[in-house]
Amino acid sequence: MLNIVIFGAPGSGKGTQSELIIKEFGLEHISTGDLLRVEIKNKTELGKIAGQYIDKGQLLPDDLIIDILANVLEEKKNAKGIIFDGYPRTIPQAEALKKMLNKHNKDVNVMLNLEVEEEELINRLIARGLIQGRSDDNRETIQSRLDVYHSQTTPLVEYYTKEGKHHAIKGTGSIESIFEQIKTILAKHVG
Ligand code: ADP
Repeated sequence: MLNIVIFGAPGSGKGTQSELIIKEFGLEHISTGDLLRVEIKNKTELGKIAGQYIDKGQLLPDDLIIDILANVLEEKKNAKGIIFDGYPRTIPQAEALKKMLNKHNKDVNVMLNLEVEEEELINRLIARGLIQGRSDDNRETIQSRLDVYHSQTTPLVEYYTKEGKHHAIKGTGSIESIFEQIKTILAKHVG
């Protein structure tokens, strides 16, 4: 089983690269952001709660998102591998994921960190807001999301470095050139 954490700031291209990885390696995708947006669209109780955090650019509480993740993971336990996109975003989330996978004698195998400069991230997110109309892709919420990323999410770089799983990827340039870097790393983990 190949379990990948795709990591990076908002706008770093996690979703785009996830799609390419899934096609190439036949993995399953868990995107906590996509999952929450479906709940919001369907106006569920969870959607109502999630919307309040997302629109402020804040993270959902760890215990809530860990529960959600545990449920989706249970559904996908027979997958060839999973790409985790937008999860974990905090150290407690990473520790919870490790515990869940370890229970089945599995673990995260690779963490791919898409590195993009802040100015480029802001430009990409503003452009995406204009095209896709995501409620959190506006200037004020973008800044909160980046602040949250720096304070709560970047400690995961050290966490996965200590685990020997961190791989830095240059997240600028063409989509294909970024994917080439990813393929080179993943080739060492498949087969
Ligand atoms: P982006 O990486 O562009 O911010 P996502 O779609 O991954 O987009 O996440 C959108 C929002 O959903 C986040 O700002 C946060 O409010 C919520 N969210 C998604 N994943 C998590 C998570 N693992 N923990 C807490 N909140 C989350």
